[in-house]
Amino acid sequence: VAKRLEKFKTTIFTQMSSLAIKHGAINLGQGFPNFDGPDFVKQAAIQAINEGKNQYARGYGIPDFNAAIAERFKKDTGLVIDPEKEVTVTSGCTEAIAATMLGLINPGDEVILFAPFYDSYEATLSMAGADIKCITLRPPDFAVPLDELRSKISKKTRAILINTPHNPTGKMFTRDELNEIASLCIENDVLVFTDEVYDKLAFEMEHISMASLPGMFERTVTMNSLGKTFSLTGWKIGWAIAPPHLIWGVKQAHAFLTFATSTPMQWAATTALRAPDSYYEELKGDYLAKKQILEQGLKDVGFTVFPSSGTYFIVVDHTPFGLKNDIEFCEYLIKEVGVVAIPTSVFYLDPEEGKNLVRFTFCKDEGTLRSAVERMKEKL
Ligand code: GLN
Repeated sequence: VAKRLEKFKTTIFTQMSSLAIKHGAINLGQGFPNFDGPDFVKQAAIQAINEGKNQYARGYGIPDFNAAIAERFKKDTGLVIDPEKEVTVTSGCTEAIAATMLGLINPGDEVILFAPFYDSYEATLSMAGADIKCITLRPPDFAVPLDELRSKISKKTRAILINTPHNPTGKMFTRDELNEIASLCIENDVLVFTDEVYDKLAFEMEHISMASLPGMFERTVTMNSLGKTFSLTGWKIGWAIAPPHLIWGVKQAHAFLTFATSTPMQWAATTALRAPDSYYEELKGDYLAKKQILEQGLKDVGFTVFPSSGTYFIVVDHTPFGLKNDIEFCEYLIKEVGVVAIPTSVFYLDPEEGKNLVRFTFCKDEGTLRSAVERMKEKL
């Protein structure tokens, strides 16, 4: 393995999902729904395939999908963007993240990350040769320590990476936090890369896109995807939105990473993004019910549960159960209780910082959530 990837192991999601199968445990680990995406989107994919829309797509996206992304962005943020010059379609947000890092970061550039962070951020920054500066968000509210952020910005800082709603904690960046980060970025000429794949799963507050703040569109790459919003995580359809001078880098990296993204799925994704508002309201309502079941259940089991404002994740403190760290707790939970959760220490540069926390997902049908809670009540 090349040096730049030496320190990375099999991703924790892959590890935990194989253990779930091996032990017949209920999988509240890896974030994928155990129910299917909507029929109208699946039918659109089948139709596109049957109509012969099966050859390479235009590299940066089929024109209709780029247009649908721009329409959606306008509805969500009020910003009018050029679908041809400011959008690149990618194979999932994970590719958008990689293309953004590889297309806009030079070796030695500093990039600021907030821990805990989604594992691909560190790996792709490492591939790009970035110098990672990490700031830890701490329970119970995982607020941004603004003084620390201010002190970490230097002449070499190229970008700050934000993820809101935030995986794994469910934290949502508040308007005040975003405003502060925005003024620091403007003052110091720093970019923002923002991963907003859980934007439609915002329960406790309004989702705010960094790009919509004054002066920020021109220095922001906004990334999103279809997977979470349409319960189709296996389709791997994502995109990046940025002004022409930034999207150029993303587009060039994408051109040589995957060249283009699945054509029929882009047609289906076009139909998906044009869904009426009622679709999004229903999705949120369904998830809110699931969230309440898991949240209450985890409290009843005896965990210290941290408030989750968005995403389909909840982070808890497992220490009331007396196991040494998050890895040991998760092993015990799989083998003795039959439930899978994600240990969070893998989301920190210093694993010690995450040793008390584990993440559960509620993107499962209500029966599955209830059974998992029952198992934990009985056996923990
Ligand atoms: N984003 C999903 C999660 O956090 C999983 C992604 C993956 O398996 N790589 O659970």
